[in-house]
Amino acid sequence: MDRKQKLNKLKRQMEAADLPLKKGATNLVFGTGNPKTKILFIGEAPGYWEDIKGVPFVGNAGKLLDVLLQSIELKREEVYITNVIHHRPPQNRDPQPAEIAAYNPYLDKIIEIIRPKIIVTLGRFSMSKFLPDTRITSVHGRCFDVNWKGRLIKVIPMFHPAAALRSVEIMKQIKDDFLKIPEILKKLI
Ligand code: URA
Repeated sequence: MDRKQKLNKLKRQMEAADLPLKKGATNLVFGTGNPKTKILFIGEAPGYWEDIKGVPFVGNAGKLLDVLLQSIELKREEVYITNVIHHRPPQNRDPQPAEIAAYNPYLDKIIEIIRPKIIVTLGRFSMSKFLPDTRITSVHGRCFDVNWKGRLIKVIPMFHPAAALRSVEIMKQIKDDFLKIPEILKKLI
């Protein structure tokens, strides 16, 4: 099976699974993009439009993500985008620890299938998966070598695009942080 087939199989398993936020959601929001990418983006959880369309980052935060990707000459089709949680939490509330734990094995599988060299975490929930006990305000835009299940992955924590839409300062920082990605990509062996 190639990566695309493996992802499709995993998606079907997730659709059949008894996941905690499934009941209140319209669609599973699995992930989208190029399974052969070197760079994986992990957000938090689907919002209203993602739930309706079954695709991550298609609302306002997603539009900003597209612009940020364009700023470094990448299209969303060239990278892979997923979330920590794959069903919309009610009223877009923060995901709870037990919910994060329930979706985590599936996120791990997605990472295992894609084998990215770089993971960009968007917001604090995906950051804490790789960099627990860190504060996004002090580490955003830095590149960390993380040993993930015996493989070296470069993890770059970034603010969540939705936070950038609420703050001029965070918008400036996320734009600057994105501009660091091409240099890190270039240095990969
Ligand atoms: N915010 C996220 O974290 N993920 C999405 O898919 C959409 C908005």
